[in-house]
Amino acid sequence: MMAAIQQALRGSLKLNESMARHTTWRVGGPAECYYEPAGLEDLAEFLSQQDEAEPLMWLGLGSNLLVRDGGIRGTVIITSGLLNEIELLDEGLVRVEAGVACAKAARFCARQQLVGVEFLAGIPGTMGGALAMNAGAFGSETWQHVVAVETINRNGQRHLRQPEEFVVSYRHVKGVSDEWFVAAHLRLYCGDSETATARIKELLEKRNSSQPIGLPSCGSVFRNPEGDHAARLIEACGLKGVCVGGACVSEKHANFIINTGEATAADIEALIEKVAAEVESQHGVQLIREVHIVGEVA
Ligand SMILES: Cc1cc2nc3c(=O)[nH]c(=O)nc-3n(C[C@H](O)[C@H](O)[C@H](O)COP(=O)(O)OP(=O)(O)OC[C@H]3O[C@@H](n4cnc5c(N)ncnc54)[C@H](O)[C@@H]3O)c2cc1C
Repeated sequence: MMAAIQQALRGSLKLNESMARHTTWRVGGPAECYYEPAGLEDLAEFLSQQDEAEPLMWLGLGSNLLVRDGGIRGTVIITSGLLNEIELLDEGLVRVEAGVACAKAARFCARQQLVGVEFLAGIPGTMGGALAMNAGAFGSETWQHVVAVETINRNGQRHLRQPEEFVVSYRHVKGVSDEWFVAAHLRLYCGDSETATARIKELLEKRNSSQPIGLPSCGSVFRNPEGDHAARLIEACGLKGVCVGGACVSEKHANFIINTGEATAADIEALIEKVAAEVESQHGVQLIREVHIVGEVA
């Protein structure tokens, strides 16, 4: 991969970067290569220089990712804090780059007297991750507000795409393969800053009272099955507080798995499998994972 780099790039390329430093579970082995682009042009240049066979993985704030202990083959491209522009394009229309934290986007919109994305304030990921996951909370979802997305492909070519070009469902989005998000264009409603700010505060308080905020987790591990809650099913199995190594099912919210300090990715993955197997055997429900698992077993 290194030999394929022909032109000077302005971003930073690291080798064997520990992914435990870049995921909210605080686990995961090293990425072979880890690229921090200096901006969109630099990212396009970097991509155009990559070998077609180079595996590429995109990373936001790592709040929905379990990276296995053996790490990641190929190159991880991080957007968080790098593709970081946010601007008002037109009345009610906001362009948010992929690396902008969801909370920052929510606060920006509130300041601009725009309402609709207050729910983003409590999602500890980036706009790119929210687009990839169709992140949502309290009855709202990211793609309800998307009127266009900017993408980039592995040759570094950029496209402006419409929502109709994607299959969007609950915590799942499918688009053109080998193309990733670099920005979202969000349509919002005119409102007032005070109401939006108060709504953000109210939603954050609701979260704090029901979720183990502040402990290393990935939020909800499983999607909610139709008409039910994964947390209810897990709790009914008596799994709250159950641990594998340093990974434990949260006492506060049964769909959260906490790294109590010394967990490995293998501990977390084993606990995920144990929970899924128990729910299937006791309730006959096959839980579907929300969390993405990537990388190599150690
Ligand atoms: C305490 C806590 C609470 C949470 N609450 C919620 C919640 O209420 N609702 C909710 O939906 N989620 C929630 N989550 C999960 C998580 O925050 C979201 O899924 C979030 O959208 C992930 O964003 P990220 O930037 O961290 O993505 P990452 O974890 O970095 O990546 C997630 C996936 O998206 C892909 N991806 C990332 N960036 C891009 C890009 N630019 N283009 C293409 N693909 C990309 C990655 O390759 C990966 O497959 C919570 C997590 C935690 C830790």
